[in-house]
Amino acid sequence: MAKILIIEDERAISDLIRFNLELVGHECAQYYDGKSGLDEALTQKYDLIILDVMLPHMSGFDIMEYVKGTPVIFVTARSGVNDRIKGLRCGADDYITKPFDIIELVERVKAVLRRTKGEANHFEFDDIKVLFDERRVFKGGNEIMLKPKEFDLLEAFINNRNLALTREKLIYLVWEFDYEGDTRTVDVHVQRLRQKLDLSDRLQTVYKTGYRLKI
Ligand code: CA
Repeated sequence: MAKILIIEDERAISDLIRFNLELVGHECAQYYDGKSGLDEALTQKYDLIILDVMLPHMSGFDIMEYVKGTPVIFVTARSGVNDRIKGLRCGADDYITKPFDIIELVERVKAVLRRTKGEANHFEFDDIKVLFDERRVFKGGNEIMLKPKEFDLLEAFINNRNLALTREKLIYLVWEFDYEGDTRTVDVHVQRLRQKLDLSDRLQTVYKTGYRLKI
């Protein structure tokens, strides 16, 4: 999918970002200080930079001055309200706040890439092809009719593929505010997706948690 540069001096956080972005199919490179990160950004082409504000040698804000043209998501401390405002004024596309939720990170990366790269209009796995803009699904060349929420659920699973998603997270991603039922609704919709698309192997139950689309 996308080539992403992570410039973050806290290795545990950098590794966490890389691990999860690679799970959903991105290719990542890691740099741990401002200067070497900027050198890399200027010599290689990246689709997105995930940029910490406080870095050795050179701050994230300083780096922003040189990387215009490449989308940037800032990583700021929870208390850094001014950093967030400054980052967006400097031209950052979005920011995430430490400590961050992994699903939120993946969603924000996806949103920025969709805006800037125009990507993710379709996704294919096995004999299944999903057209996101047209909201159509084909299996073995035959169109499968999904109800709106079934399609939204499939899209949420694809966007967060290989990640374990709790029922609460799925409700947040798919039903948002018009949700009135209980978490059983999720189970019913997952069951329908499994049946309609023959996903019993791929759409796995994660014990005591929720579900995962393994691709
Ligand atoms: Ca830092």
